[in-house]
Amino acid sequence: MSDTYLDLVSGGAGARVAKKLGLPRPVRLRRTDPAAVDVPLTPGPVLVLSDARSTADADAVAEGLLGWDLDVRRDTRLGQGRWGAVVLVLTGLAHPADLATPALELSGVLRQLAAGARAVTVSRAAPAPGVERHAAAGEGHAAAGEGHAATGGDPAVAAARLGVDGFLRSLAKEMRAGATANGLVLADGVTVGAPAVRGGLRFLLSGRSAFVDGQLIAVGSDGGSEPSDWARPLAGTVAAVTGAARGIGAATARVLARDGAHVLGVDVPAAGEGLAAVMNEVRGTALQLDITAPDAADRILAVARERYGHLDVVVHNAGILRDKLLANMTPERFADLMAVNITAPLRMNETFARPGVLGGAGAAPRIISLASTSGIAGNRGQTNYATAKAGIIGMTRALAEPLARAGGTANAVAPGFIETDMTATIPTVPRELSRRSSSLQQGGQPVDVAEAIAFLASPQAGGINGQVLRVCGQLMVGQ
Ligand code: NAD
Repeated sequence: MSDTYLDLVSGGAGARVAKKLGLPRPVRLRRTDPAAVDVPLTPGPVLVLSDARSTADADAVAEGLLGWDLDVRRDTRLGQGRWGAVVLVLTGLAHPADLATPALELSGVLRQLAAGARAVTVSRAAPAPGVERHAAAGEGHAAAGEGHAATGGDPAVAAARLGVDGFLRSLAKEMRAGATANGLVLADGVTVGAPAVRGGLRFLLSGRSAFVDGQLIAVGSDGGSEPSDWARPLAGTVAAVTGAARGIGAATARVLARDGAHVLGVDVPAAGEGLAAVMNEVRGTALQLDITAPDAADRILAVARERYGHLDVVVHNAGILRDKLLANMTPERFADLMAVNITAPLRMNETFARPGVLGGAGAAPRIISLASTSGIAGNRGQTNYATAKAGIIGMTRALAEPLARAGGTANAVAPGFIETDMTATIPTVPRELSRRSSSLQQGGQPVDVAEAIAFLASPQAGGINGQVLRVCGQLMVGQ
């Protein structure tokens, strides 16, 4: 789908007119060009900043970035050019005031950022609501004693840690020219050298995260492993993608294949032609199947095993819209939507989440499901859709533990407004409003969602489990 306004204002006279009139000025985002080789991860040098207590971690992060052939600096003198990225290592914060020094150093370089630059924070998780209180009530709990600074149980430490959240989300709203700000939030005990921290950093710095903005990705464990080849992290992996004939599913099939996976694409017989075309392109296997069939999971598994010997990754992407205000909702519209968008994934996971079903030949089990920002914030006319998509998030959280026991992960991706056939059916005015109401002032492309799915499917993302990654350009709903 094309965005005519973006085409008009992304350069030349159109850009000047938009600036003069104070209109939104979306720019073309920096994306990873699948055909390009040796493209640097960032469009300029990377500045690594930290608060006074995080210098050792910042040194380790900088060292790791150097290993990726990046031009890494530890002070704000730039010389020529523009910064490609700024990484703020904040793992040792003990008080919100500690953030002032790195924040102001960042302030000094914001006007020297390249188009499509990145700011990435690396910080520690604040206690989850209720958890610390409950734990602290127990006898002999470390957080109740001197161990505060290490665990986040101290109110000042907790304030500092959650302070990063507010800082990051506001910073993202101030970034210009396609630049984004995101963060990695490490559980206590997870080191900055953990595969998911390094893999997450690489994803966030690269063009693969073009439409991920204002997000904090929780890294809960040191799990996962770095791939031997970062360009093909899914080599040898077998992935099934439902709804692969078009839109986000087709883009996911392409990106997973680019990253080295064998892809089994599933779609309804009516979409058979489109499915065959996509599967030919990625040298995958097409399976015409309605996912609401009671034996859908068994059939997917049987084809995957027959063709490739195992199945490792399942992407629950197939979905439909049946929008109506609740006052006008019909039983059919509610039921049809539930059947495809949540009942089918739930039923299929009864098979896929069973121990020993997913994973083989060295690849870890992964279940990645498509939620939606509507499932987080709600959306007018989408009571049915939002019920199902919020349901996907609940399902994902519940699957995290059984998947972890099998050495795998379950995560969800929540797209905002993505330019697909599905959103092309939205009437013009709400469509245009949705496009412009994100920090990046445009809709995302299917490939942007596909890149997030491929990252979560990768071995380096093994420490990220039970999470929802929004791919929404920091849409101003439900943040
Ligand atoms: P799309 O309509 O372009 O493609 C969906 C695909 O799923 C189609 O090929 C369709 O044939 C297939 N499908 C539908 N019912 C099926 C069934 N019963 N069995 C097998 N295949 C079936 O949609 P899209 O925009 O690419 O969205 C993909 C996913 O992302 C959906 O789950 C959607 O809810 C979610 N999502 C999309 C957006 C967006 O802005 N496009 C936003 C948030 C979430």
